Amino acid sequence: MKKLEFIYENGPHKWAAISRDPEKPNYLIDTNEYLVINGNEAILTDPGGMEIFSAVFSAISAEFDPYRISRLFASHQDPDIISALALWLDFNPDLKCYLSWLWATFVPHFGGKEDTFIPIPDEGMSIPLGNLTLEAVPAHYLHSSGNFNLYDAKAKILFSGDVGAAMLPPGEDSLFVENFDRHIRHAQGFHRRWMGSNSAKLNWCERVSRLDIDMLCPQHGAIYRGEDVKRFIDWFSELEVGSGIKD
Ligand code: FE
Repeated sequence: MKKLEFIYENGPHKWAAISRDPEKPNYLIDTNEYLVINGNEAILTDPGGMEIFSAVFSAISAEFDPYRISRLFASHQDPDIISALALWLDFNPDLKCYLSWLWATFVPHFGGKEDTFIPIPDEGMSIPLGNLTLEAVPAHYLHSSGNFNLYDAKAKILFSGDVGAAMLPPGEDSLFVENFDRHIRHAQGFHRRWMGSNSAKLNWCERVSRLDIDMLCPQHGAIYRGEDVKRFIDWFSELEVGSGIKD
């Protein structure tokens, strides 16, 4: 069963993780969804696949009124990111979905009308949430060719999509990274294979190094906190990517 866990709370401004599901069948990759709340509004990042919609929806509904979710954010186009779109729109047809302009004519195959989508230009954009402003931060080619992270400067949290993702074995699947050196072994193969561009990777490392980040929250695996955020950026900048095939 998935459950909503609050990881940041400051008055009406909160972040919650809907973290990995120990009961999920093994043929589905496990995912984290995140809910950013500011007063009466909320945005759900990478809502997930249609197979896990009911688990995500009931985890949210146990703690929070899902009618207060006004926007969805899709870091990229993959099925584990946004194939639940039609089910979310059945629940609330007025939901808006932010995603790269590059995918704005592809993702409607999962559902939605023209006015459902708010295309994000390559350079990123601000996303208002009540009196708060979130930023869509470019992360192109990591791994998708039109790809964004979501940054909350006030909470100092970067939702990083597939960047920082790890495939964790049973017993090493806590919500937060507890031992960076042990954890990162489970991220290495994924980043080598799924991240296709060393120059895009270095751009991203430089861009996010300028941000003040307390937590880096990937869509698969565990959350990096404090010093582990810098450790991850340093590790990633040195990793040769686009090299996951042996021959
Ligand atoms: Fe993906």
